Amino acid sequence: MSKITIAIDGYSSCGKSTLAKALASKLGYAYVDSGAMYRCVTLYALRKGVIKDHSFQESDIVRLLDEIHLTFQFNPNTKSSETFLNGENVEKEIRQMIVSENVSKVSAIHDVRVKMIAIQRKLGKNKGIVMDGRDIGTNVFPFAELKLFMTADTDIRTQRRFDELSSKGQHISFNDVKSNLIYRDHEDTHRKENPLTQAEDAIVLDNSELTREQQLEFVMKLITDLTLSVN
Ligand code: C5P
Repeated sequence: MSKITIAIDGYSSCGKSTLAKALASKLGYAYVDSGAMYRCVTLYALRKGVIKDHSFQESDIVRLLDEIHLTFQFNPNTKSSETFLNGENVEKEIRQMIVSENVSKVSAIHDVRVKMIAIQRKLGKNKGIVMDGRDIGTNVFPFAELKLFMTADTDIRTQRRFDELSSKGQHISFNDVKSNLIYRDHEDTHRKENPLTQAEDAIVLDNSELTREQQLEFVMKLITDLTLSVN
């Protein structure tokens, strides 16, 4: 079966990475979390003191880009790919609320996007990849064989994110988590460059009422049909 490219886009916290990881593991594909890359740039800028009180000069962030080296490593214990910023595993730090609060503004910067998209395309050049994000099917891999656009009810998404953060020891109120989701969705869909939109040829997947297993089964069926018709 020849390898394909799977692009998964959608709103914040609707289970894109859960599905992407499960698909990658079933298919023996690489999984790349493109949001993690934008989160790394944001974390680095926060650490350097370039972002203060949620504001920054774009030029200060752009100046840092050459100092940022991103790599990914598969962790066999957690069975998932982890993100390294200049050799340091930052998988936990990049999920902090302070990063979530600033990442949408950072990801809207032209030079940031150019650098991240170049890395993403390089990672996907041999196909056999599942990448999730906001502009993967519309911009990074417009020729992906399978494009999914994921969505789910806002309260359900908030609850999932709230549970995830709580399980990692981050105690943030339900309402703060919800406000952040709504804020990021608004920023991500309204920015000038590569906003979150549904690709014309994407399949919409609303998983509000689906279990992880049902969702995986649905997408695996799509892939089987697709690869049968391609081969
Ligand atoms: O996927 P995740 O929620 O971790 O993404 C964090 C942020 O990174 C998004 O809210 C968005 O601003 C940005 N992003 C992006 N393009 C992508 C992936 C993520 O702009 N392909």
